[in-house]
Formats: sequence, structure tokens, C-alpha cells
Amino acid sequence: MIGAGWAGLAAAHVLAGRGYAVTVYEAAREVGGRARTVVARPGGPAFSAPLDNGQHLLLGAYTETLALMRELGQDPDALLLRAPLRLASADGRFALRAPRLPSPLHGVAALLGARGLSAGARWAALRFVLGLRAQGWLAAGRDPMPGQAGGSPTVARLLATWNQPREAVARLWRPLCLAALNTPPEQACARLFAAVLRDSLDAPRSHSDLLLPRCDLSSLWPRAAAARHQLRRGQAVRELVPGDERVLVDGEPYAAAVLAVPPGIAARLLPPHPAMQAVRQALRAFRHLPIATLTVRLAAPFRLAFPMLMLTEDAARGHLGQWVFDRRALLGHDEGHGELAVVVSAASDFEGRDRAACAAGLLDQLREQLAGQGAGGMPPVQDWELLVDKRATFAAVPDLARPGNATAWPRLALCGDWTDTGYPGTLEGAVRSGLEAGRLLADAADARG
Ligand SMILES: Cc1cc2nc3c(=O)[nH]c(=O)nc-3n(C[C@H](O)[C@H](O)[C@H](O)COP(=O)(O)OP(=O)(O)OC[C@H]3O[C@@H](n4cnc5c(N)ncnc54)[C@H](O)[C@@H]3O)c2cc1C
Repeated sequence: MIGAGWAGLAAAHVLAGRGYAVTVYEAAREVGGRARTVVARPGGPAFSAPLDNGQHLLLGAYTETLALMRELGQDPDALLLRAPLRLASADGRFALRAPRLPSPLHGVAALLGARGLSAGARWAALRFVLGLRAQGWLAAGRDPMPGQAGGSPTVARLLATWNQPREAVARLWRPLCLAALNTPPEQACARLFAAVLRDSLDAPRSHSDLLLPRCDLSSLWPRAAAARHQLRRGQAVRELVPGDERVLVDGEPYAAAVLAVPPGIAARLLPPHPAMQAVRQALRAFRHLPIATLTVRLAAPFRLAFPMLMLTEDAARGHLGQWVFDRRALLGHDEGHGELAVVVSAASDFEGRDRAACAAGLLDQLREQLAGQGAGGMPPVQDWELLVDKRATFAAVPDLARPGNATAWPRLALCGDWTDTGYPGTLEGAVRSGLEAGRLLADAADARG
């Protein structure tokens, strides 16, 4: 296994479950990849619990991830806070909540009952969702290869086609698109967006539940998974030589290998092969977008009305935060101090800018928009840490060519959130891709005897 992100560890789990001994090479010291716990900077701010590479949110629709956790003995009910779909702005002006009705009535009632949207906008939003459903969710998820007929429009184009009023776009569709695809609606693929709506709204009601981690991400399941294999931490693989009888990984022979690294690194490690030219080209074509997370420690206790609230963006004032999470409520540590995490998806505006200036804009946004939370608004900020992952996810643009798990070499498979999963770059996409790659190699090995 090359790469101990969520995809690689899921693949390793399948292979071990089918009786194959697995060695995992991981370039970093910690397992979990982009969804991992980060080591605190020496002399940096102290928080009540370890920080992650970025605040993450899972959905009830992440069924394979939840099943994998259970198989590893990690209890999702204890480690994740589950809440019915609820989108509420921190300033109290907007709220949408799915009542306990059977699907799809829960979604219909949530849209029609949204507070802070005009009646016209609520009906327009409902017409849009029902229209997408009637159209089979745009043959959700999978795009044809570029140049082929039937490519996807952008989310912005799709919303315009369905005459979505500006308020519905600003309050609902844009925040959802950024959260789910990490790509602005003007650039984002409508088919992938439709796939996300389908999986939450045209599925059992529990699939639209919000699942918020109650521990750091590596402790959620990656460490438990990695402990079952031989792990080579801090070992970045430099050379891969797949052959008919074995695969050489930095010169060491293995019966098979899974390349579970980001697409640019996969392109560098894959040796040339005439049948793999299109794949290598596709791997090099991925663009990536950043996600920034500002973690804030407050000087006094502070709780949000709900552990995850929406923020209102105002780019001109540096108010770029989209969501704020109550770490104190989620992690349950440190009664004395409030802790918040602010998330900025598609955070291209942060690139090349002074970190302190970026943080100042977000802190100003928090002070303003959390004024009505708690008793007397947000207490003074004691410390903060801004983490920006420049390559958080691939840009989920239309007509991306996403490779499958198989390669020209029967003993080598690919996996990662960027493969052709039908999902945007998400945890569930990564896990599904890993499970598929593991099955592919295990089936091939079983067939060889
Ligand atoms: C800040 C942030 C917030 C996010 N929020 C969400 C969210 O709320 N919900 C959601 O579903 N998704 C979210 N995502 C996306 C999610 O984290 C990713 O989709 C997922 O973690 C990708 O997993 P992966 O295994 O495909 O890739 P990766 O996690 O990138 O794993 C690849 C691994 O390969 C290792 N590696 C690289 N090169 C080598 C080498 N040469 N040799 C050995 N190892 C190597 C890397 O160190 C890494 O551990 C977020 C991502 C970020 C960064």
C-alpha cells in the first residue's frame, strides 16, 4: 500500500480481510492523509484537543465509511455527533431544518419551512430539487470524457436555468456547493452537485444527517486501521516497477501494490506504458483548491446555539468564513475556554496573503456575526491557529476525466478521492475508491490462486 490516507487504509483493510499481509508506506509521520491529526507547532498556541488538518463534516450518506469504522471496532455513534440536517446562520437570519418525516418529505418540508427565505425563493428551491429528481439527477456524478457529447454544465448555469432567485443561491446553493465540492458554483460541475443532492435528499432520511467528529480525525479510525498492518511511517516511495510476477516498491518485491496517493504524485510514480497514456494525462490535468481552517481559543466559556452554524461572507471586508464549528461542544474538553473552528472552502483568496491579515478578517467576522450567541457575544480571543491546505481537494469542474481503479498492470491498482467515484473529493469517495481497489487486487490474486 502506498499512502495511508482514507483511501489507502480502506484498501489495506479489504486486502487484510481477504487474508493478504499488507505493508503500508506513508510519507508522513501520521496516518489519515488530508483527514489527519496535525502535530502542534513547538511554541504554537495550545488547544484543548489536537488539531486536524482541517475541520471535517461527514454525512449520514457516508455509509461505507460508517461500515468500515464498525468493522474496525470504532463506534460511529460514540465518535460522531449525529444531528438531523440543519442549516442555520450564526446571525439568526436564516434557518433550515429537516423534520422527522419519511424521505423525501423531510427535504420538501425543510425547503418549504426555511426561515429567512421569501415564499417565492422557497418554492423555486423546491421546484429545482423536484425537477432534478425528475431528470434522474442529471445522470448524477459521472462525466463523459472531455470532448464527448453530453458534458455537464456548471452549477451556476444549472441554477440560472432553473431561475433560482439570488437569495436562494446566496443562502442555500452557494454554501452547499462550496461545502460539498470545494469549488465555487461558477466553476463547479452540476452533475457532481446533483449527485450530492440525490444522496442526501432522495435516500433514507438518515442519509441527510450531519455527522460531526467528536475526536481528532486520525483517532476516528485511521490509527486503528493502520495498527493492523506493517506500517512504514515517514517513508515516501520514490520508485514503482510493476511487472508480470511482482511489483517492486523502492526495490522491494510485493505480490501486488495499490497506489493511494494524490494524482500528481501518482503521475510521477507510474512508469510509462502505452495503455496508460490517457490516465497519466488525466492525472496531470487535475487542479486543486485550498481549504483554510482557523481555530480560535477564547478567554472564557462560550457555546454556539448549534455545533455548526453558517457564516455570511463579505469578501470586501475579509469576511470569508462559511461555517463555524463549536469545538468545545464536539470534543467536550476544557470547561473554562470556548473553542471555535472557522472553515473557508475554495480559499484561493488566502493564497499568497499574510496569515495574520487573513485571520484578522475572520476574527472580525466572528465578533460581528456571533454577537447574538451566548450571553453577551463572543469573549476575547486568546489564541488562534490558521491552517491552509493548498491542495485540499481537486477542483470539481465539469468534464473531468477521472481514472478508474484498474491499471494496465493486473498487480497494480489506483485509489483516491480523485478516481471515478461519482462523488466530489470527499472522505466517502476516498473510502469507496479504496474498497474497490482492494477488491480488485484481492479478486485478481484469488483468481491466480
Ligand atoms: C481542510 C480539508 C477539509 C476537508 N473537509 C472535508 C469534509 O468536511 N468532508 C469530506 O467528506 N471531505 C473533506 N475533505 C476532503 C477529504 O479530506 C479527502 O477527500 C480525503 O481525505 C482524501 O483521502 P485520500 O486517501 O484519497 O487522499 P490523501 O488523504 O491525500 O492520502 C494520500 C496519502 O498518500 C501519502 N503519500 C503521498 N506521496 C507518497 C509517497 N510517495 N509514498 C508514500 N505515501 C505517500 C500522503 O502523505 C497521504 O497520507 C477535506 C479536505 C481538507 C484538506
